[in-house]
Amino acid sequence: MNKENFKTIRNIILTGAAVTIITNSGIKMVLNRDYVHNIYNSKNLKVSELEKEELFKMLEEESGLENLNDERDLILTAVIDNPNLTEEEKQIIYKLVDIIEDNPYINKKTAYANLKNLDIQHVDRDENVSDDINGEYLPISNEINIYAEDDDHSVLIHEIIHCIFTNSHSYVLPRYLSEGTTELLVDEYFTDTPFVEENCYPYEIAMVKILCEMVGPDIVLETYSTGDMSILCNKLTEVMDEDSAKSYLDLLNKMFEDYNSEGKVVFEDMSTFLATTNDYFKAKNGDVRNEAYEYNKELLINLKNKYPTNDYIYYVIENGYYKKPYFSTKLKQDTKKYYLEKEKSSVFENIL
Ligand SMILES: [Zn+2]
Repeated sequence: MNKENFKTIRNIILTGAAVTIITNSGIKMVLNRDYVHNIYNSKNLKVSELEKEELFKMLEEESGLENLNDERDLILTAVIDNPNLTEEEKQIIYKLVDIIEDNPYINKKTAYANLKNLDIQHVDRDENVSDDINGEYLPISNEINIYAEDDDHSVLIHEIIHCIFTNSHSYVLPRYLSEGTTELLVDEYFTDTPFVEENCYPYEIAMVKILCEMVGPDIVLETYSTGDMSILCNKLTEVMDEDSAKSYLDLLNKMFEDYNSEGKVVFEDMSTFLATTNDYFKAKNGDVRNEAYEYNKELLINLKNKYPTNDYIYYVIENGYYKKPYFSTKLKQDTKKYYLEKEKSSVFENIL
């Protein structure tokens, strides 16, 4: 084990994790914080590259990763073994442990494999990359390109979440669902403004929140994590018939594709979307009224306007934001009551 890996272990120990290592006698151990700390201090920890390889091979092949004790081990072993990452990048990735711990649907094997070989590049945009794209995850080469750095690393974290959740089925996910869920995870786990989106995919997030209200956050998370749209579709069919559920999902996809290519949504599509969603809540609850839906619906209606982004910002400044977490266990514990938070104009202060 080289010096840099030593540093990694020490830093991660300080965050309080257990760690799986193989010792120089070839014994695999899951060690607690104090024990590793003692070994590190007495400089007895000697793990050769060969022994490390053996551990990872054993973990991957024999156990199907079951021996990775928990999600912390999954991330830890993957980043320690990744020679492409800097120390700072490893620390950032390690912060994603809560997202993985909160998600029972993650494909651990894929997440491990992706993280283990991930490469992060800070590069200039070439002419094929538009100005509003600050970062990209490229699944084929398993690379993240960062075109514009931000202070809180939210662009990099967004792309790392893509890396963790991209599997061989993910390409079938509609873009609004993939981007909306990814950025909502960034908001809930990493930003100071978890309930309002400032930069990326605000409408996609509003749509994901509406879907969470319709079928429950678990179904949305499972669909996102597995890349299996039939999970979402089947859940909708508990309230609407199968053809209607499929048409509804097609409509959502079309609306967001239109928004991406034309900058706005066809008026009739918006009307059909609102009517169908209202009917859904009525059939499900006997009542259309659902505070979170009502709020996010008002945000989405702006998509039919000529300048949706401005209208979104004005709406939030005027009406505040709806304070309700969907995925983060910690945020749910901290947020006892869901309500419309009125005093919230400072978020967009710098933009206008
Ligand atoms: Zn993205």
